[in-house]
Amino acid sequence: MTKPTATPAPAKPDQYTFGDPRTRYPVISPPVQQQDEPGIQSQMTPVPDLGEATYRGTGRLTGRRALITGADSGIGGAVAIAFAREGADITMSYRPEEESDARHIADVIKRAGRTATLVPGDLTDPAYCRALVDTAVSAMGGLDAVVNVAGKQVWQPTLAELSDEQFEQTYATNVFALFWIVKAALPHLEPGSTIINTASLEAYTPSPDRLDYASTKGAINNLSKGLAQQLIPHGIRVNVVAPGPTWTALQVTCGVDPETLPEFGSSETSMGRAAQPAELAPAYVFLASAESSFVVGETLNVNGGMNTP
Ligand code: NAD
Ligand code: MG
Repeated sequence: MTKPTATPAPAKPDQYTFGDPRTRYPVISPPVQQQDEPGIQSQMTPVPDLGEATYRGTGRLTGRRALITGADSGIGGAVAIAFAREGADITMSYRPEEESDARHIADVIKRAGRTATLVPGDLTDPAYCRALVDTAVSAMGGLDAVVNVAGKQVWQPTLAELSDEQFEQTYATNVFALFWIVKAALPHLEPGSTIINTASLEAYTPSPDRLDYASTKGAINNLSKGLAQQLIPHGIRVNVVAPGPTWTALQVTCGVDPETLPEFGSSETSMGRAAQPAELAPAYVFLASAESSFVVGETLNVNGGMNTP
């Protein structure tokens, strides 16, 4: 009698596997939950999927050296994993409170055989932004990709409740830090380098309870398009990724009205669900790779079918 053979568990589909996009990731209904900013991703329910088990690299960024902000969690964390599996060394920016999330990403980077340089700090401090670039350059022996993903989003129902301090902090985190980092990085960027910034659907359809945040995203799009024209004569490409609703720590740290979390993303996108950070990473890989050599000043919308201009 022949022994029955065990059926191997199906491997998780990687990003190249075809299938129905609506059911590729589950429709989630997160319970109401809140954390203080910046939030610890590992304490979320459910924990976002950054592609740890699914992203398959094919050498598209071999030997590149990338600085990624907000690299401990969410979209930035997914980008760090993808870039490392594509062959890039990574310098990670994040806030000191996020050390445990950052260590998780750094482990994945190291298991991909690449280096992870951890530089915690506060992006609203221009001195930190400049030191971050210096550390990245000396640790990785140069810099080829600057990826600004970090962001601050705190909902406020009315203008009266939006404090001067929050307004300034949101602009400092989302816009000023980008300016300080790119300015410091420029002397190190050779032709062929890329800068990728992160906007949002909010740049086009601002939510009334996110006036500060949404307007920074419009500014990021605009700044990137102007900068792209200034830098392409030097062989440096600037582009933007604009995500739609994505399940990340931003959402549980007062990014949205907590009562709306159980419906997060399900009514806004034509897909009927929010994205997982893993679904954003390939757009950044494309814009950082040589495949996008003729793509300049573009905003790549990854939003599940929401209308953009
Ligand atoms: P996230 O909370 O996982 O990542 C944001 C990161 O920003 C944090 O991990 C933190 O490290 C960093 N950060 C914030 N303030 C900082 C500071 N002062 N100093 C240093 N680092 C700081 O959430 P996410 O959703 O992955 O956010 C990434 C980007 O995606 C943001 O720019 C956000 O605006 C953008 N975005 C997100 C969504 C969404 O639905 N999640 C939609 C559109 C755009
Ligand atoms: Mg984080």
